[in-house]
Amino acid sequence: MFKAWVLNKSDGVFDASLRDVDEAELPDGDVLLRVEYSSLNYKDALALTDSAPVVRKWPMVPGIDGAGVVLESRHAAWKPGDRWVVNGWGIGESHWGCLAERASLKGDWLVPLPARFDAREAMILGTAGYTAMLAVQAIAAHGVRPEDGEVLVTGASGGVGSVAVSLLARRGWRVVALSGKPDASGYLQELGAAEVLDRAAYSAAGKPLQKERWAAVVDTAGSHILANACAQTRWGGVVAACGLAQGMDFPTTVAPFILRGVTLAGIDSVMQPLAARRSAWTALADEFDTAQFARIAHQLPLRDARDAALSIMQGRSRGRYVVEVDV
Ligand code: NDP
Repeated sequence: MFKAWVLNKSDGVFDASLRDVDEAELPDGDVLLRVEYSSLNYKDALALTDSAPVVRKWPMVPGIDGAGVVLESRHAAWKPGDRWVVNGWGIGESHWGCLAERASLKGDWLVPLPARFDAREAMILGTAGYTAMLAVQAIAAHGVRPEDGEVLVTGASGGVGSVAVSLLARRGWRVVALSGKPDASGYLQELGAAEVLDRAAYSAAGKPLQKERWAAVVDTAGSHILANACAQTRWGGVVAACGLAQGMDFPTTVAPFILRGVTLAGIDSVMQPLAARRSAWTALADEFDTAQFARIAHQLPLRDARDAALSIMQGRSRGRYVVEVDV
């Protein structure tokens, strides 16, 4: 038996409980894993509170990411004792995830845990950190550099935003953080932000072309915030769009794209091929300032995952929730 969060819905009634599960109930997979740490991402908060249709079959164990040790393997690349990290692939949505002491996954989904991180540190970064690195890599691949101007990070005090601010500052960018939390300015400056702007100034409809400012943007918000960020992006700049914290809509025109050559780079962490995942995790291990772990992380036991999910949904959270599962 092992402990797991189990989400269920029958006759439209949702239930989330932490309970003992028999290993025989685990879904098919070619690696049996001990999960040491998981984390709470926005998507996990949606699933744990049934706030959006994230879960595609019931019952479901949530947890879109995890890190730990291989217990058993029928996969050529993995053997007992190997250390792993996993993100996405539909785990916690259509395949049982990592808010549980055990997981049965496909070996093809796992990435070797970078030697520089332990499982806890990997999950402080988690899917948010890995997505932030994908966005930073998309900006670099576009060819814009810190010498070209400033970078804007939206939803800056959240998980993706916090890691993006830190990574971009380390790469030499002048980072401007957009945040709705007036009391987060000190935190964002400690992460590396040179300036903090009030989210309210970007949250309503604006003109499709505004005064040019940003060489690059990492956007976690969507909706008007993304539209206004595109409207202020300089000629030839790039906007890496990865989130929908404000909304799924994108109320703008093609003007920034056809009159200023702005590129909208979509970031999807869930279905990235293995090579891109390894590259992002290797870059995180090389570049992330480990002194920031203590600043970003809020650690909690598995039993507190649902309470923390509620605080994410209420917009009260800052940084990253790392969940101690089985150590
Ligand atoms: P968090 O909940 O940690 O952070 C979201 C941040 O967005 C908040 O901290 C807040 O920052 C800001 N925010 C909250 N509510 C609103 C609002 N109504 N309008 C505008 N901004 C708001 O989430 P994550 O950082 O984990 O994820 C951010 C987004 O990225 C989510 O939409 C998530 O689904 C998405 N995502 C996408 C991935 C992908 O593969 N494309 C992978 C991972 C995440 P502040 O107060 O500082 O403004």
